[in-house]
Amino acid sequence: MNSSLTMKLREENHPEFWRKRIDKDLLSNWMGQTKTCPACARSHTIKTKAMIKDQDCAGKAGLYLKDMQMSGRCKVIMDIQTRAVAGDTLMEGLKDFSPEAVVFERDDLHADEQSLGTLLTAMSDKPDFLVSCGSGTLTDITRYNAYMAGIPFVAYATAASVDGFASGSTPLLVKGFKTTYPGIAPDLILYDPSVLAAAPQKMIAAGFGDVLAKIIALIDWRLAYFAEDEAYCPLIAGLVDQAVEQCLNLADDLAVSEKAAQQERQKKETACSQLMEALSLTGLAMQMMGTSRPASGSDHHISHLLEMRDIQRHKKGSLHGDKVGIGTLIGMTLYMRLFEGRRLPVQKPPLPAAVWEKEVRRVYGPLAEQAIAKNDPQPPQGKVWETQKQSIEAAMASFGYDYVDRFSKLLPAARDHITAIGGPVRPDQLGYSIQDTYDAIAHGKEVRPKFTTLRLAERFGWLYDLAEEIADGLPAGKIY
Ligand SMILES: [Zn+2]
Ligand SMILES: [Zn+2]
Repeated sequence: MNSSLTMKLREENHPEFWRKRIDKDLLSNWMGQTKTCPACARSHTIKTKAMIKDQDCAGKAGLYLKDMQMSGRCKVIMDIQTRAVAGDTLMEGLKDFSPEAVVFERDDLHADEQSLGTLLTAMSDKPDFLVSCGSGTLTDITRYNAYMAGIPFVAYATAASVDGFASGSTPLLVKGFKTTYPGIAPDLILYDPSVLAAAPQKMIAAGFGDVLAKIIALIDWRLAYFAEDEAYCPLIAGLVDQAVEQCLNLADDLAVSEKAAQQERQKKETACSQLMEALSLTGLAMQMMGTSRPASGSDHHISHLLEMRDIQRHKKGSLHGDKVGIGTLIGMTLYMRLFEGRRLPVQKPPLPAAVWEKEVRRVYGPLAEQAIAKNDPQPPQGKVWETQKQSIEAAMASFGYDYVDRFSKLLPAARDHITAIGGPVRPDQLGYSIQDTYDAIAHGKEVRPKFTTLRLAERFGWLYDLAEEIADGLPAGKIY
């Protein structure tokens, strides 16, 4: 075994080692600061200074901002729905900061060129800071404009539906292609448990799906560290892993209906607030790492391809966390199939480069040139792949097989939890065809040139057959 592999397998490189050593104040003591990491020795920065949970924190927003020494004038970014939920109260709460509302009325709002331009033109009087009032999309539109204008922003969350609130990068749709752009993290995140609990049930299910995705994101990331020497931090992985575990226990309370008795609804408020904490924590993990790696793997790549397809078809999209939750269940299936019997898959030949290119052109249509430019036509082979394979084998034997063994119980449990909370578990429930599902599994990987489950399956020559089997079997309930 070579020395780099021995080093990677050391106990101090296991997330479990750090999980035992994480005290509850670790993150709050890191907020607003840069510190040297005891686990990976890199310096990690959390720009966000505080997360504030409070009843009526929209009405009291001005007080919190003054506490943070914020001053000047602000724009408050919302849509018609979030204006009714909290936007008007937020405007009142921020009255000492001369707030002006920017209200989006588009039905199919995306963080794309049009919405970014709309906000930019509303900023001609150069506000001192921005306040987003909404969930993922509104926060991203605000984040990117704040970043470009070099001003801070505050995120008021109206639903615990996505982990992007605390993130420092921005997923944008540019010319229809979902790409990660830079951004800034909010200085402050505000949320009110009663507002989160009153959000549409499908948004809560989406937030739960976005947390579940970390089950796949974490193993994808750790295997990328072994196979491709990608930067990895076991402390950050341990933090995210802990958040996922806590979230799995919330499922019953998140499923409580609006009509339930007061005591049950109280439990739901608490659970929504904990879900928001788990989502924010994974956002903070992305800030610390400076990439989306701790929170996004093949689960997200499958989702991104489906989302891009909606946009090509001018179809009103579903929620991010809905598709990500489905991507997670598919990701678990892929891992279970690949490593059945606790051993590496039998090597099969890769897809010929010309067939790959033809398929990418079919799947990506007008976006194919971008996808082809970002990716190699064939996976690594020969000595490079043999070395990677050895590392993957050692990683699987050390922790991977045990991790994947859990999926036999976790997969049906996750499926049932999402269903009970009110979310979809199969692509056909969102109107996607067998072909769409095949394309997302077989070619979601070209969205980002990152090592994930999908690349793993591709390198062993299993991806396209598995994609076909899973896509065909899913609508009939034959896969999970
Ligand atoms: Zn670290
Ligand atoms: Zn996500």
